[in-house]
This record gives sequence, C-alpha cells and structure tokens, in this order.
Amino acid sequence: GSQLPNWLQRSAENTPQKIAVSTPEIEWSFAELNQQAIQLARQLAALGVRQNSRVALLASNGLPFVVCVHALMRLGAILVPLNVRLTLEEQVWLLRDVDALALVSDQQYHTRASELKQAFPALLEARLLLDLADRQVTLQNIAPDLHTPLLDEIDLEAIQAIMYTSGTTGTPKGVLITYKMQWWNALGSSLNLGHHPESDCWLLCMPLFHIGGLSILLKNVIYGIRIIVYEKFDARSINQAIQAQGVSIISVVAVMLQRMLADLDDRQQHYPTTLRCVLLGGGPAPRPLLEECARRHVPVVQTYGLTESCSQAVTLAPGDALRKLGSAGRPLLPVQLHIMDEEKVAQPHQPGIICLKGPSITTGYDHRPEATAATITDGWLATGDIGYVDEEGYLYVLDRRNDLIISGGENVYPAEIEAILLAHPEVEEAGVCGQADPQWGQVPIAFVHLKAGSSLSSDMLLAYATPKLARYKLPRAIHIVDQLPRNSAGKLLRRELPNYLIAKMP
Ligand code: AMP
Ligand code: MG
Repeated sequence: GSQLPNWLQRSAENTPQKIAVSTPEIEWSFAELNQQAIQLARQLAALGVRQNSRVALLASNGLPFVVCVHALMRLGAILVPLNVRLTLEEQVWLLRDVDALALVSDQQYHTRASELKQAFPALLEARLLLDLADRQVTLQNIAPDLHTPLLDEIDLEAIQAIMYTSGTTGTPKGVLITYKMQWWNALGSSLNLGHHPESDCWLLCMPLFHIGGLSILLKNVIYGIRIIVYEKFDARSINQAIQAQGVSIISVVAVMLQRMLADLDDRQQHYPTTLRCVLLGGGPAPRPLLEECARRHVPVVQTYGLTESCSQAVTLAPGDALRKLGSAGRPLLPVQLHIMDEEKVAQPHQPGIICLKGPSITTGYDHRPEATAATITDGWLATGDIGYVDEEGYLYVLDRRNDLIISGGENVYPAEIEAILLAHPEVEEAGVCGQADPQWGQVPIAFVHLKAGSSLSSDMLLAYATPKLARYKLPRAIHIVDQLPRNSAGKLLRRELPNYLIAKMP
C-alpha cells in the first residue's frame, strides 16, 4: 500500500534524545516534539477537528506552528497556512474559499483571529500558547480528547496541506499538497544535496506559510535532522547561528542572502566550512550576487520551483555553480522537465513554457477543476514560466508567468492589484507592473486612467487600496495617466507600462 509510518514518531523512536527543533528561546528533542504533537492532536480533536477537516493556521514561524503541523498529521486533518502579511479582507476571502472548519492562531495573531471569527461566525477558533517554563505548546482552555484515535501511519495519497498561490492567473487558488509530494521532494532534494544525518542542520528563516518554509518541517522529520527556526529574518543573528551552531544548510531568497553578505562584510568574516549549502530560490538570482558568492566561496545552490512542485524541482549542483552560472540547474531525480513550444517539445536553446511532471508535482487545485485542467495535461504541469534548456539539459529561466512581480520573495500579481484599483468608482483603467528595486528585486507600481471629471489623487487611491492589499502588494507609486497601452484586441500591454515613466522624465 501507500502507507508509511508517521515520520516524526519514527524519528522519535530512532533518535529520541537528538535535538529536533531549536529556536532562540528553547530546544526540543525528537521525543519531546513527538510528545507535544500527540498532546496537541488530542486538544484539536476536542475542538472538533477530524480526518480531512480543513484547519487554517495563522501563526508566525515558531514552535506553535511546528507542533500544529505535526498534530494535524496525527489526525489526518488538512493544514491551510495563512499568509500573515495578508489584510483581514484577504484572509476572510481565503477562509471562505477553502471552507475552513477551524482557525488556530499563535499569540501574535490572537487579535486578528478574533476579527476573522467575527467575519466568519461558524469557524471553530482556538489559540496556541507557548509556555517556555513548562516547555509545551497547548490550546488555550481546551481539555484533551483521549478517545479519538490518532494515526500512526501516513497515507501518501492523502492531502497534507492546501497552500494558496495565484498560479498562472491572478485569482488565488489552493494547491493540493499531498504527503507523497513532500516525500518525493525530500528524497529528490537529498539525492542531489546529500544526506548527512549526524551533522546536518537546516536553518529555517523563510515563512512557514510558503512551501519553501513548510517543506523544511517535513524534511526535519523525514531525514531526522535538526532544524533551527527563526521567527524573523535578521541577517546578524542568522550569521551568528551559522558561525556558532553548525548550520549546514540554509534556504534563502536573494534579498536575504544580500543582507547576510553585507553583514559578513561589516564584521569581516567568512562562513565556516560546516555551511555546505545555501539554497537560493523563490525567484530569479541576480547575476552579481551569484558572482560575489563564487568569489567569496559561499556554497550557493540555485533552485527553481513553485508551490505546485512542493518547492525545489530543479537545482544546480554545487559543483556546477561556476560552469553554469545563472542556470537553475537540472531536474531533481523524481522530476521530469520539458520545455514546450506550442504543442512540441522545444530544442535546446529554444525558449518555451517550463513543464514539470513527477510524484512531487501537484495533481491540481482545490475545487477548481477548470484551472486544474488548464494547467495539468497527462501529468505535465505547465508552470507558465518561460525558459530554455541548454544541450546538457540545464534550465535557464527567462521570464515569469503572468507578468508576475517578485518582491523580496513574495509574489505580487498585477491582475490582483489592478482588480482592486478598478473597483474604485472613479477609476476607468488600471495597469500594474514591476519596477526594479535594489533592495526587494522588484516593487509594484501602478498606472491609472480616471473617469472623466474625476479629481481623485494618487494618495486618495492609495488610501483606498491600503485595507484591501497586503503591504508588499501596495503600489510603491500610482501614476495618473491619460491612457494605457493596449494592443489592437484591447489587451493591456503591461510590458509597455514602464515607458510611461521614461516619457515623464524631463
Ligand atoms: P511560488 O509558487 O510562490 O513559490 O512562486 C513560484 C514562482 O517563482 C515560479 O513560478 C517562478 O515564476 C518564480 N521562480 C522560482 N524560482 C525561480 C528561479 N530560480 N528563477 C526565476 N524565477 C523563479
Ligand atoms: Mg515564491
């Protein structure tokens, strides 16, 4: 069958005393983590969570999040992590769309959780508390249910999580993430990067509500290695952890790595040889950054992946970093890669849509059969990203799907922002594009054409959009213009938008 023993339980049996999770405040062994997961699962059962229940989690990176992920596995319930940066309105939309049964939050988000509960009264709501003195995570005011049986096995076909992403269209969709995807992603990654159970330690500073963070929690228990979890990205403390705590792998996006290198410079330090892999993903890697890493012997490993591929799908082996600078590498063993030009597989160096197939690739989107059918054909996922492979099969990503803007690792979809601006009664047309930004890679900027007679200012429009859009999606500037560039069919030409700025320059 497709059942495996519960991964955390097995790690707790194999290496009970080994440290599983460290945070700046507290460390837990695998035995403790397992015990905590069981205890929390019993409390979640008392709340009413059952197999296949959809449980939204609103929490920062930390032990409550980690324990909750494992507790849900023991119940066979589905994790729906909420992006904590979204506004109340955005989160309400998402809870409705996924039809969540329950919402669980950590201390930082108790107030927001109450607001969500108000907007969605049928939601079961419970609060996670981390008690450092008692070394435990509990649900506030809920007695454990000792009768509901907990699962000892993992059904690989079952859904572990639903993660929202906008995919190739502007509307957010829930990607179905199965245990099978996590398993094969973990295997594929370690076949490429190597598995050193005695010495490996993975530092986690990416948000856990994105797949790049969440998948590390699964690798933690599948590999039986230690992870260090940071709530916030802070270059100084992360560099110190790398120096002092034997970190061997760290996952980062470009802006994080840039800050880490700047901090190293400030202190005139190098990374110790214990750091064997700096996994760089989530968006394009600026070439100067890669060159600097090569010069400084930072073991950077480029990767390409997306929520639909359960994080890494294509990775540049460390030995190829220089020879193939700028490439995202070759597909991990479980993954097949095709570049499709129209209906045909493209020749080397010929650009086309990047398509992926394999057991770590999603089977589709939650309750959106049309979107699933439009994206997946015979097991091949059309990512919407454009790229080519060279004669040795190394992938080069050229352009991103749907004019996607990536700002500090967060995806920003022009269509989503345009829809918000267009909903304003005085806006006739709206267009959004990315503007290069030295710190964030890109930031969104907007161009709007107002209805006749309107005297709306860009500040007023910005104030209107603020409660509707997470801060990283808010346009850095809104330019009011006479018209927007469109093709003969009336389709907005987003790529032409930056020309308006140039035209405006004196
Ligand atoms: P997400 O689903 O939020 O993880 O976003 C995935 C998207 O990030 C991909 O579809 C690409 O557009 C972009 N992306 C990820 N890795 C790379 C890379 N190595 N180079 C360029 N774009 C990337
Ligand atoms: Mg991303």
